Amino acid sequence: MKYADIVIDISLEKLDKTFQYSIPAEIEDRALPGTRVCVQFGKRKIKGIIVTVTDKPKIDPDRIRPLLSVSNESPSENDTLVSLAFYLSSHYGSTLNQALKTVFPARNHAAEKREKYVSLTSHEAGEKELERLSSLSRPSMKRAELIKLLLAGKDSLPWSFITKENGISSAVIRKLESDGIASVSDRRVYRDAIRDFGDGGKAHALNDEQRAVTETIKTDLSIGKRYTYLLYGVTGSGKTEVYMELISDCLKKGGDAIVLIPEIALTYQTVSRFKDRFGSLVSVINSRMSDGERKDQIDRAESGSCRVMIGPRSALFTPFQHLGLIIVDEEHESSYKSGISPRYHARDVAVERARLEGAYVVLGSATPSVESMKKALDGEYKMLTMSRRVMDRPLPRIFLSDMRKELRLGNRSIFSGRLRELINDRLEKKQQVILFLNRRGISGFVSCRSCGESIKCPHCSVSMTLHKDGLLHCHYCGHKEVVPRVCPRCGSPYIAGFRAGTEAVEEETKRIFPGARVIRMDADTTRGRDGYNNLIKKFMHHEADILVGTQMIIKGHDFPEVTLVGILAADLSLNSPDFRGAERTYQMITQAAGRAGRGETPGAVVIQTYQPDNYSIKAAAESDYMAFYKEEISFRRLMHYPPEGHLLHILITSADEEKAERKAADVARFISEKFKGTRVLGPDDDVIAKLKDEYRKSIYIKDNDYDVLIKISDETGIFVREDRGWSDAAIWFDFDPQ
Ligand code: ADP
Ligand code: ZN
Ligand code: ZN
Repeated sequence: MKYADIVIDISLEKLDKTFQYSIPAEIEDRALPGTRVCVQFGKRKIKGIIVTVTDKPKIDPDRIRPLLSVSNESPSENDTLVSLAFYLSSHYGSTLNQALKTVFPARNHAAEKREKYVSLTSHEAGEKELERLSSLSRPSMKRAELIKLLLAGKDSLPWSFITKENGISSAVIRKLESDGIASVSDRRVYRDAIRDFGDGGKAHALNDEQRAVTETIKTDLSIGKRYTYLLYGVTGSGKTEVYMELISDCLKKGGDAIVLIPEIALTYQTVSRFKDRFGSLVSVINSRMSDGERKDQIDRAESGSCRVMIGPRSALFTPFQHLGLIIVDEEHESSYKSGISPRYHARDVAVERARLEGAYVVLGSATPSVESMKKALDGEYKMLTMSRRVMDRPLPRIFLSDMRKELRLGNRSIFSGRLRELINDRLEKKQQVILFLNRRGISGFVSCRSCGESIKCPHCSVSMTLHKDGLLHCHYCGHKEVVPRVCPRCGSPYIAGFRAGTEAVEEETKRIFPGARVIRMDADTTRGRDGYNNLIKKFMHHEADILVGTQMIIKGHDFPEVTLVGILAADLSLNSPDFRGAERTYQMITQAAGRAGRGETPGAVVIQTYQPDNYSIKAAAESDYMAFYKEEISFRRLMHYPPEGHLLHILITSADEEKAERKAADVARFISEKFKGTRVLGPDDDVIAKLKDEYRKSIYIKDNDYDVLIKISDETGIFVREDRGWSDAAIWFDFDPQ
């Protein structure tokens, strides 16, 4: 007898452990780890997921109940993925149930696409019938035609091919079937997610820097070393070409590869390059797909017909049998951190999955995250550098526009003098321009237009944001202040919130440059399945001169005719109310600059800012990553922010505000009393104080030791479980939030 340990599908912390059931013999071959099952639980029938299969009963076998059924989805036998779920649950403070569902997303059986196929029961039967027909005085021509068609091909033919392309009716097929001459079968067909892709271009011969990188890795592999590599290569240095060479090498050795790309950069252009190189071995998965399309891609990977999976963070759980390589492109992207429980970071989970399966990881970026750079400098990752653009193309020239000066000179427009002048120049030369508005950081920070400073929390050194109560709040510690009348630093009365939208920018652009054709790209103009791709194609084909947009336009595109990029308000990300503001700004400027001058003509970039002396802006303008890093890491060290310390964000939600407040206070008290050495900040309103009618209270815990934070989340979980008062409130944990 075999037994299955299962986790039942209930999001109650109390029931978050395994329960054992026996496996009836008739479903034994399908009852594998990772498979969904149905069991009797108390009086209820409940769904669950198998975690392990064993032949040792945990209790008296007579008291173990049998599994009721196994779902029809293809069984997964991937023990490492189960281990990965355990890792997610312990490392990111989620229930095992949530972790298992993340790793084994439900694959709906009904979503399979099937097609009918027709074949002869035997060749002879077909020939005999054809003979019989020819002896008749008035034979059915269509019936004869169908038999000939079936005799001609080696395999069975799709029903739709017979009816649609050959004009033979369904009745004729059915009659042949009922006469026992033909048979009709039902077959699974896979939807091709990237049918229309693939005019990307040919493989390049690698240049010296690219070859040095691939050779280093291949040499390491040949002596059995599996490192995590940080590929630090400037924009346009040809990282994708390196990835493809490594994938090709991996495939040759029988391995499968996963390529993680931020959803926002998962573009037609990027995918086409992979499809050109690896053809039908490549597949893509993304959130815009239907359930059916997604399932098909996962099933193809499992069956081995797809061996390179490209996608955003969820592609990390592709059930490959022989994983050899995981690439995390743009590894610094915050979208690799999951926004729902378990709040895992795909970069770190990639490293763990690779470790479990003997694969290796390449993290690529032109602007590595502070976390990864620290690990590389500490020797935990191996750093590989590409410091030049391919074909010796120069990096773009970067200009800083000091918007404080512009204001003093009486320029209140959204364009600095320099930017306006350069745009006119490009329009004259029939070159293209990108105007970039980084909206991500926008959330009501207040800053001084004269000196550029935003109002920061005295305890946390992050920008405070304006709340409905009219006060400035710090999201970390809850410190509150009135909005000052004049700037505390320079005394200027020009203190204001920063508001700007892409629509306003579009209008202003059209007004100032009346001859120019302008396209706007943001969440509103790119709705629909192809909205995004259509606008990109339009710009690519030079059907517009100026592209105005949010961060979605600066990722993963190669527009050879763009020779000017304007960053309209670099301060938007600099003053974002979290400790990563400077890092995001450095990355944003560098990525945006990377869009300029990718073709033959060199490019230029204009950064508009009220804080031209800020280290992240200065370093970005000089393309000096290490200068930025040195400043940034000392700030993190001083304030004990990650990676020089760790932060646990605890979110308490309830539809009843008073309840949320009370429970948050309970938790904060529990932690401060039990863990004396750690710093407990808050509770206070979350950045999003209310969402979908739920009030949200935040507590931040700081500690230099990640394991202490795990312990805190575990014990807080137990504390909450033992308290009945939580039935209409919930608690969420987020480690090192993004
Ligand atoms: P990155 O990802 O580092 O920004 P890409 O891989 O997108 O850079 O490469 C930038 C451009 O250079 C692409 O158009 C690519 O086709 C081209 N390229 C890459 N490697 C080479 C090479 N060895 N020789 C010539 N062109 C190359
Ligand atoms: Zn000021
Ligand atoms: Zn604070």
